Amino acid sequence: MKVAIYANEGRRSTIISQRLKKKFADTHFIYDEKNPDIVVTVGGDGTLLSAFHKYAAIIDTVRFVSVHTGHLGFYTDWREDEIDDLVVSLQSDNGQAVNYPLLDIRVKYQGLAKAVNYLALNESTLKRNSATMVTDVYIGGEFFEKFRGDGLCISTPTGSTAYNKSLGGAVIHPNLKVLQVTEISSINNRIFRTLSSPMIIAPSDWITLIPDRQSDYILTVDQDTFHGKQIEQIRYKISKKSIHFAKYRHMQFWRRVQDAFIGNEFGN
Ligand code: NAP
Ligand code: MN
Repeated sequence: MKVAIYANEGRRSTIISQRLKKKFADTHFIYDEKNPDIVVTVGGDGTLLSAFHKYAAIIDTVRFVSVHTGHLGFYTDWREDEIDDLVVSLQSDNGQAVNYPLLDIRVKYQGLAKAVNYLALNESTLKRNSATMVTDVYIGGEFFEKFRGDGLCISTPTGSTAYNKSLGGAVIHPNLKVLQVTEISSINNRIFRTLSSPMIIAPSDWITLIPDRQSDYILTVDQDTFHGKQIEQIRYKISKKSIHFAKYRHMQFWRRVQDAFIGNEFGN
């Protein structure tokens, strides 16, 4: 089995990844940064997010497993003092995986013949800072509303605990293959109207945004930002691809949500 390590720049992460690398050498794993079967990330959720983008080209075949050097995250399973157990699990790996949905983004830029595709693990947003963002919103090809406000966020189930949650979106169990649309400060009054609540989009549907002709939109795809080009339209749907995690043990999703957002001190 070919493994790679992807660590963030923190001191703890550097130490842990050096230790892991040595263990891999001792246990005869092949270290292959370019074409790994398994990527072990060391850091936080943001680290896994970066690793996902680094390995996007081989996303169909690669599996991820994550060590957290801070708090327990949504993509991270193993504590830094458990790396011996992790190596043992990797040695007896039999290809076990859980797959979670990804967001497929297709952008038509003005003046470009070919559409540009992006893949997101958490979410994509379209925003405008200088003035109100005005965009037509279509669901499944049918006109739904004219949105006015700061922006819109389209998130995956695993991204629902990130930006989406800050925007008042629901936390979605990642076994559900749906997308969620949340508003960023919509304008609602007698003249302008939007739905004003988050929407959960069925797997067979897609969202199309046709923004007013302006050149100062900001498009985000997870931690990446794109701007400066005039956007004609964006189409969001659930990707045919998914992300694979090497799951050697189970942790209930709602347990993770509780740990991240509520804490246990008032429980029995
Ligand atoms: P960052 O600014 O370092 O991350 C923001 C926070 O989001 C970090 O605490 C990160 O956890 C956490 N996070 C990332 N993915 C998550 C997930 N799926 N569920 C719960 N928490 C998650 O930037 P980053 O680490 O590169 O992450 C980029 C993400 O930041 C974007 O995809 C977006 O979701 C999020 N973001 C949120 C807001 C907001 O809430 N207002 C605004 C912009 C971006 P770690 O500390 O473990 O990395
Ligand atoms: Mn981060």
